[in-house]
Amino acid sequence: MGTYKIAVLKGDGIGPEVVTEAMEVLKCIGNKYHHTFLFDEKLVGGCAYDAYGTPLPDETLNACKNSDSVLLGAVGGAKWDHLPSSLRPETGALLKLRSSLGLYANLRPAIIHKALKDASPIRSEIIGDHLDILVVRELTGGIYFGEKGYREGRYGKEAYDVEAYSEYEIKRIVIQAFEAAMKRNKHVSSIDKANVLESSKLWRKIVTEVAENYPEVTLDHMYVDNAAMQLIRDPKHFDVIVTSNIFGDIISDEASQITGSIGMLPSASLAQDAFGMYEPIHGSAPDIAGKNIANPIATILSTAMMLKFSFGLMQEAQTIEDAVTKVLDAGYRTPDIYHEETTKVGTKEMGKLIVEAILK
Ligand code: NAD
Repeated sequence: MGTYKIAVLKGDGIGPEVVTEAMEVLKCIGNKYHHTFLFDEKLVGGCAYDAYGTPLPDETLNACKNSDSVLLGAVGGAKWDHLPSSLRPETGALLKLRSSLGLYANLRPAIIHKALKDASPIRSEIIGDHLDILVVRELTGGIYFGEKGYREGRYGKEAYDVEAYSEYEIKRIVIQAFEAAMKRNKHVSSIDKANVLESSKLWRKIVTEVAENYPEVTLDHMYVDNAAMQLIRDPKHFDVIVTSNIFGDIISDEASQITGSIGMLPSASLAQDAFGMYEPIHGSAPDIAGKNIANPIATILSTAMMLKFSFGLMQEAQTIEDAVTKVLDAGYRTPDIYHEETTKVGTKEMGKLIVEAILK
């Protein structure tokens, strides 16, 4: 029995619709297991810009800092695309949230549920019955945050971006990956470009050192170009992938595409302590906003990650994951994952079915 304060940032587009269903699931888990989830709802993204002239008002950031975790929908839309990057929802709100909250570890599971394996663009004999990969991406270092600018080069004006990683930054993300692997199939694949890059050589050295503390975990190192190939050729090889910010950006999108369903995939961004921000990997999907057809499962599974990683409520998290599986196995689908032999339901109905499955 515990009390947990959650900052809820629904955001733009389908954000409010999918987060509302995720909140219903959390309330249901609270009732079933006698926990209290206190929701502190605040504006973020384009809607916050319209109301306050900034996509991340101080009030919103402070609410996040004063909470045990953050549940985020999605931000952005064409209406705000013309704004300078400091005021655009994606950069002005999301990147600032990540850096202000010290969210250095991004965990993105790419899971294919048995009932949805036809959705994968990869042949079913390669996928098998089930696929479950966890990509652990460094989120606050590397080339996206390194020194950048313009200078005079050998052929005139040139632009540069520096990829720099400290031992400290590498070690803390690699430990996250090994800890995650200990709770899974005990296999870490570290992705780098150590045949070319100094920063990758240091990365590989630190990974090898950290691995000595986890003798039960199998470690392999892979160059990023090979990893991109192996993910398509033999995705079942992977359990936990750990990699830098830029490689993780690309590899995690590739892994998510293998699952074939963007509306199903959750993510967690974690800080040094148990604090985390949890959100679906998809965007605000303005093309389907307000129509009650968005798939809320990615956001609902994000709450399961929150229970697991921020609150240590393993059984409660498992209950949500099992409920999602039951509803899919029973043949219910939102339009994005619907096919003829299944039953089409809307956002609200899907949320309700998952709540009912939790209560059973
Ligand atoms: P998107 O993820 O919003 O949508 C891509 C496609 O997937 C669309 O056809 C959409 O209808 C569909 N889709 C996405 N989520 C779905 C769901 N839950 N159920 C059913 N279908 C779903 O990506 P986009 O169209 O490139 O971007 C739209 C806006 O979202 C842009 O402003 C973009 O900058 C922003 N964005 C925000 C985030 C975030 O908040 N983390 C992430 C990506 C994009």
